[in-house]
Amino acid sequence: MRPVRAVIFDWGGTLTPWHVVDLARQWDAYAAEYAPDRAAATALAARIVAAEDDAWARIRAGDGSAHLTEVLEAAGVDTDRPGHSAALAAYEEFWEPHTITDPDVVPLFTGLRERGVRVGVLSNTIWSRDYHERIFARDGVLHLVDGSVYTSEIDHGKPHREAFRTAMAAVGVDDPAACVYVGDRVFEDIHGAQRAGMRAILVPHSDIPPSQRVPVDVRPDGVAARLVDILGHVDRWGCNS
Ligand SMILES: [Mg+2]
Repeated sequence: MRPVRAVIFDWGGTLTPWHVVDLARQWDAYAAEYAPDRAAATALAARIVAAEDDAWARIRAGDGSAHLTEVLEAAGVDTDRPGHSAALAAYEEFWEPHTITDPDVVPLFTGLRERGVRVGVLSNTIWSRDYHERIFARDGVLHLVDGSVYTSEIDHGKPHREAFRTAMAAVGVDDPAACVYVGDRVFEDIHGAQRAGMRAILVPHSDIPPSQRVPVDVRPDGVAARLVDILGHVDRWGCNS
């Protein structure tokens, strides 16, 4: 078994604990700012929900990636209109309480770096790098990340191999057998990482909605009830420090 040179993390449900979020309400917050009246806001929110569902279904099917701007434009939003910025701020405010970084992340990332192991992030997301990095900076972890890939910036989401290859390049490791991936979704994260040649650790606390689950027969290489438990897996597998 190859020594571990990098550990790459999923974001939602992994670095930030899983919250059950009413996903329709996120767009109510956006639409209430953007649309001229209540009826138009209700209709707009429904169109965005449908456009986002379409985008995630495509990503799960291995067909591309999506950026928030594309989802909004597919729902008929003009993102150049002045109302968009205020609406986006309302949307981010809705998400704020659901983006808090797990308190284990600082000791975990610090422990990995002390072992000479690089720290990466690979998130299936429609959000921008800027938004994700503002969240990490707010929670004091941005400086502990060696490389990150947000799939809104690339052509494929997990479980596509290309997403994992891009994440390895971001942390400067070219051997997937020397990489460990950590995530909360069996299909996208565990199956995807193992198929890309990595070891995969499951964080088993997320209540993934049935409509987002893809049945797949895989066994994670490890399970982390708490994120700091990952240090034990890395020590067991060995690293080059
Ligand atoms: Mg996740």
